[in-house]
Amino acid sequence: MVDIPLESLTGGSAPAGPSSSGRTFYLETFGCQMNVHDSEKVAGVLLARGYRPTSDPDRADLVLYNTCSIREKAAQKVFAHLGKYKKAPEQGRAVAVLGCVAEQEGERIFDRAPWVSLVCGSASYRRLPELLDRLEAGQRRVTGLGLDVDETFETEVTRRDHPFRAYVTIIEGCDKRCTFCVVPSTRGPERSRASGPVLAEVARLAAAGYTEVQFLGQTVDSWRDPGPPGLRFSELLLAAAATPGIRRVRFTTSHPRDFGPDIVRAIDDCPVLCEHIHLPVQSGSTRVLERMRRNYTREEYLETIAMIRSSRRPISLTTDIIVGFPGETEEDFALTMDLLDRAGYDGVFAFKYSPRPNTPALEWPDQIPEAEKSRRLALLIDRQRQIQVERNGKLVGSGVEVLVDGRHEARGQWTGRTSGNRVVNFTSPMPDLLGQYAQVRIFQAGPNSLVGEHTR
Ligand code: SF4
Repeated sequence: MVDIPLESLTGGSAPAGPSSSGRTFYLETFGCQMNVHDSEKVAGVLLARGYRPTSDPDRADLVLYNTCSIREKAAQKVFAHLGKYKKAPEQGRAVAVLGCVAEQEGERIFDRAPWVSLVCGSASYRRLPELLDRLEAGQRRVTGLGLDVDETFETEVTRRDHPFRAYVTIIEGCDKRCTFCVVPSTRGPERSRASGPVLAEVARLAAAGYTEVQFLGQTVDSWRDPGPPGLRFSELLLAAAATPGIRRVRFTTSHPRDFGPDIVRAIDDCPVLCEHIHLPVQSGSTRVLERMRRNYTREEYLETIAMIRSSRRPISLTTDIIVGFPGETEEDFALTMDLLDRAGYDGVFAFKYSPRPNTPALEWPDQIPEAEKSRRLALLIDRQRQIQVERNGKLVGSGVEVLVDGRHEARGQWTGRTSGNRVVNFTSPMPDLLGQYAQVRIFQAGPNSLVGEHTR
């Protein structure tokens, strides 16, 4: 869950819209970076209409939840939060549900929580100004639903929540239809933004002082330039990296099926491209991968890993894994554990399989008991922790460059990330390092972070 802090409006001038001056909004975000960035854009639209942000939901005229339904618990949390606003309509306040739960549940949300006034899925965010017009005119139930879109949600009034690192969506939706995943039914079909507007946005961000951009997409490497000049994804990365002022370009999430050697060559050739690839494998068993409809085998995935490991740069590699997928046997799980050792991941986001509405795997009879899923998850996390201790330990004594993005006052340490996306906590005699690139010598390593001292 990310409670969006209140930051200044950046990224272009606000278009004149109907004035809602004096009204306040509270926006809370659940889920992935795509949702976090969607919320930055939604907040920008509200600010441009004259709304003011508040961090107190009880004082907000408009309360918005940007929701996630990737796992059952995340969706349940939303309804638990909504229960707090039963009196909102009689108080002259409005409650909105945005994002994946909105698209998944649709108008059923009005049945479960009749005090909600606006339900809008991410594929309909372009219509937000029109939907807000209707809400402000007093319409009690306003909906923006449907996935029949061929457009992306772009706005010049995005409110950026991080002062040095900016998200840029380059592709929305997904056409892959993995059998466990809600994304195709909540975010709609795959649609890429043209390279021109993407690179113009990067140039604007650089001019505004951002030095790191992160390209976002559910399957970011599936990006195809919809018009001339017809860049490949790796060419888009290189073009963004060539923008004056930009020192780091990241991208997430890559799909193994679309990940080609040209991306690794680009990272090899261009130090501005970060040496980190997030490549979800989901399972180490080809049998399970087939049932998941991932469109690659264990062997093909390992070939891609070998290609990445042949890079001249020390690319760090992270992944997502689902344990306890329906029908996953002990042998399948052993193959996933074995893959951990072979891949040598620098980080793993591991989850128990969570049955989701509108997905084929929901109906399958060979569901794994919860206790068994928990057992497998614990084993996997424990093994991966050892791997991370070993891998991070090799960095002790080395020097790394860190983009400083925070300070732990109590510990007297600065914190930031390396190009490989490792968290580094370090001491420095400098009074202010926020937003700067610091050279740090590493003297200690844990499973999830490194500790060092500033050298210059
Ligand atoms: S590739 Fe599969 S897991 Fe990823 S968003 Fe698309 S359907 Fe979901």
